[in-house]
Amino acid sequence: MGRKPPYRRGTPSQTARPMTTPQKIYRFLPLTFANGNRISRFAKACPHCHGMVTARDMEGIARLLHDKIVLAAEAQCPECGKRFPVTCVISDDKRVHRVRMPLWLFRIWLKLALRNLPEPQLQEDWSVQEEEAPKAGIPLADNAQVTRSGEVLGQFDGTPISAWLDIDGRHFVFERALPPAGQLCLNDSELLFEGKLVYRLA
Ligand SMILES: [Zn+2]
Repeated sequence: MGRKPPYRRGTPSQTARPMTTPQKIYRFLPLTFANGNRISRFAKACPHCHGMVTARDMEGIARLLHDKIVLAAEAQCPECGKRFPVTCVISDDKRVHRVRMPLWLFRIWLKLALRNLPEPQLQEDWSVQEEEAPKAGIPLADNAQVTRSGEVLGQFDGTPISAWLDIDGRHFVFERALPPAGQLCLNDSELLFEGKLVYRLA
């Protein structure tokens, strides 16, 4: 469990959108620092009416950058309707540090800083069904030295059945034939020969 084969992709639970495109700030959240601290909400008091403006009313960019969340947004106060810039850096102790830089300049800086960063991994729902490997018994190498017995027990599906085989110094006796389309399930002392004859290590 937990393996991620590249050929079986789950359905992304979010639609991929470049994370450097300004959008509602709440869509970038939660963001989790390397130390485990997580920012799932963000709000700032409106400088005009002092009402709280949440990430739903901010549009811009919020990204983890070198263990800090950098946030550049324009907020619109739902109370008074006024717009104001929000530019800050949140350190991994969850403290908010003001950035004294105009929003437009901070945005340009942020875009440049993010340009060379990989896009964050979107949550993908993986579902990996571990299939039980069919029991294939003793492997038969292509270059194995095989000696067949002179004694032939009969024929199966057009193939003569040798009573025993010596393969690389090991002695095998015929046990059974594999029915066509039969489930291949051999134990650890069995060997499949010519695709249909099962021999047992003697
Ligand atoms: Zn306001």
